Amino acid sequence: MAAGEEKILVSVRVRPLNEKEKTRNDGCDWECVNNTTIICKSHNLSDKPSYTFDKVFGFECPTKQVYDDGAREVALCVLSGINSSIFAYGQTSSGKTYTMSGITEFAIDDIFVYINKHKQERKFTLKFSAMEIYNEAVRDLLCEDHNTPLRVLDDPERGTVVEKLKEETLTDRNHLAELLSICETQRKIGETSLNEASSRSHQILRLTIESSNREMSSSESSATLAASVCFVDLAGSERASQTLSAGSRLKEGCHINRSLLTLGTVIRKLSKGKNGHIPYRDSKLTRILQNSLGGNARTAIICTMSPAHSHLEQSRNTLLFATCAK
Ligand code: ADP
Ligand code: MG
Repeated sequence: MAAGEEKILVSVRVRPLNEKEKTRNDGCDWECVNNTTIICKSHNLSDKPSYTFDKVFGFECPTKQVYDDGAREVALCVLSGINSSIFAYGQTSSGKTYTMSGITEFAIDDIFVYINKHKQERKFTLKFSAMEIYNEAVRDLLCEDHNTPLRVLDDPERGTVVEKLKEETLTDRNHLAELLSICETQRKIGETSLNEASSRSHQILRLTIESSNREMSSSESSATLAASVCFVDLAGSERASQTLSAGSRLKEGCHINRSLLTLGTVIRKLSKGKNGHIPYRDSKLTRILQNSLGGNARTAIICTMSPAHSHLEQSRNTLLFATCAK
């Protein structure tokens, strides 16, 4: 890691007020005073009105800028053989999917530009897999059977693996575009049958890149690089704080609490550079992402929030999460 590069890059993106919020005259509580600081204009929050992060993106900021300043450097580590992960964290309807799908597209474009530029000297192999974690059950988003959850296993050589997860070897950019559209369809099908699942499920898209020098002699094994980048669209963060009522709703709530809370704990410990025990094993999400979080992996977290007064409490929770990740 070069000087000045932080292991965990934390930024905040505020979306514009939507039509519904405007129609009901929902006021805007927040002001981005510069590109690193956001303040709360609301009076009843005198305890901590100002928050500073690596980057703050106001509602006028296009996704390209969020990508360039908040994710690009971390995503492109994969080309140097360094694992990385990009997360969207925030309450439901704050803009996680909007932000993460844009970032994924921009990153993939950059990766293909790089590969096309270097394919004379290096041989690249790209693999893609996609999964969804709902209720601590893992489902393959490239597979039509979504009734059989996949098992998460410990492999002595490969570490934590998701058994039977489809991994497609990519032929080109269009192939990846097709796979992304399959994922989106699968996610929507799941959402319809599971009723609003997107607010409760975590989606992980993983791109693995292996490359080797075309003129490599067998002694030069260091010329071979392999790493993956994960794009993670998290469940709504209200699931980490809300106590849900009875039955399966409660179970869902508990599990999502577990994954989000464990992720929060893991990220907090990593950001503080603590050497002690890091509880990756406490949730499916952190088990699967362990190699993309620990070691020399780089992480970018984009926290999305609504500016509306009616969401003040959740926005404040999101900023507290972001603060702890720093
Ligand atoms: P989430 O995934 O957090 O539930 P979405 O990404 O689905 O939220 O966003 C909710 C709605 O707000 C969508 O209609 C989306 O297009 C819109 N939206 C989110 N962020 C922005 C933004 N920065 N600019 C414009 N529209 C946005
Ligand atoms: Mg979403």
